[in-house]
Amino acid sequence: MAPFSPGTPLPVDRLVALDRAHVWHPYSPMPGKATPYVVESASGVRLRLAEPAGGHRELVDGMSSWWAAIHGYGHPELDQAVRDQLGRMSHVMFGGLTHEPAVRLAARLVEITPEPLQHVFLADSGSVSVEVAMKMCLQYWQSIGRPEKRRLLTWRGGYHGDTFHPMSVCDPEGGMHQLWGGVLPRQLFVGEPPAGFDAPLDAGYAAELDELIEREADELAAVIVEPVVQGAGGMRFHSPEYLRLLRELCDRHGVLLVFDEIATGFGRTGALFAAEHAGISPDVMCLGKAITGGYLTLAATLCTGEVANGISRGEVPVLAHGPTFMGNPLAAAVANASIDLLLRQDWQQEVKRIETGLRDSLAGAAGVPGVRDVRVLGAIGVVQLDHPVDMAAATEAAVREGVWLRPFRDLIYTMPPYITGDEDLARIGAAVTAAAVAG
Ligand code: PMP
Repeated sequence: MAPFSPGTPLPVDRLVALDRAHVWHPYSPMPGKATPYVVESASGVRLRLAEPAGGHRELVDGMSSWWAAIHGYGHPELDQAVRDQLGRMSHVMFGGLTHEPAVRLAARLVEITPEPLQHVFLADSGSVSVEVAMKMCLQYWQSIGRPEKRRLLTWRGGYHGDTFHPMSVCDPEGGMHQLWGGVLPRQLFVGEPPAGFDAPLDAGYAAELDELIEREADELAAVIVEPVVQGAGGMRFHSPEYLRLLRELCDRHGVLLVFDEIATGFGRTGALFAAEHAGISPDVMCLGKAITGGYLTLAATLCTGEVANGISRGEVPVLAHGPTFMGNPLAAAVANASIDLLLRQDWQQEVKRIETGLRDSLAGAAGVPGVRDVRVLGAIGVVQLDHPVDMAAATEAAVREGVWLRPFRDLIYTMPPYITGDEDLARIGAAVTAAAVAG
């Protein structure tokens, strides 16, 4: 394609042509087939398009940029936190050096997460934080003289990231990662817990899990799950009872417990962290996405003193991981500002308001032919179809309603920013319903 002059704005058709020719998007072919919507700017809960789509120049964001932008876009305090930090330094290496934004963030995360979590690894993406969690678990057992404990157990229907070790604990039949079946480490899977946040504990399921963990305990390093909400693997909700069960079984059989709270963390399910619904703590916890209010790429892996001390007693007494952009000061500064902003307000009240708004606005979707289930928890609303969704038709239907959604598989779902007003929530509900009709 012909070159373009740097510094000159690209006309939209040219930008789209260059995008399709050269730019890989998530889970997409190359050259690109779909025509992406071009976002010019974002403010509050609105994405401003370079050209109108479905009759709208602005779309209400129903996705929070995949769980992340909990305060919306362009929040003055978060913008200022980045500017202030930019004036001091945008990045320095973390080996042998440290700085206030990262130290403050680590201390804050320890303060707000369940108590036994004491040590924080600042990773640069969610997938890497899961890699690090797994490394911590395997290295812990190796360090204390149990190197044979290196397998992981998870329930089906999960999603933990796109790098290799996390892929090995994603749903093996879920459609995302079957390609790698022959290459990935072989982990152990058990069926996902019965659906429903309020579902009672199924004694048969509990017994099966107990038997499996007991049988495999000699080789089992850890159980890893997404607590309460399985996200990209199917947007399923389950009861916190199953988390209590896992905690009890892991303790009884000498296995570590890892919670991947990358999607659920920072209030999304109505508790600051989903583990709180169960009143228990994991040994290792992964955080990401909303940690910076969606501003910059950052994630964290927290572990207990016992895990960290175990690793430090080993033949190789260091956690062998160190990304170039570890503890990035800009990302850490905006994470601190985002957490301050969240906790300073009555965020529970706001998430409750969104839950009520979504329940009201999605009620009508239950009557749409082809809709199998409508479920809402915290600031998450899900409509599940009884057939695979026509992504393009469903997306276009939502855009015609002035809302940005990203349906996939048999799901049309929303997790709006916590600042979404009641009118916009109603609009999101109407768009989800329209997408269900179209898709
Ligand atoms: N775990 C969970 C539960 C997630 O939802 C995601 C992202 N969808 C990841 C891990 C991976 O995070 P990232 O995309 O930042 O690598």
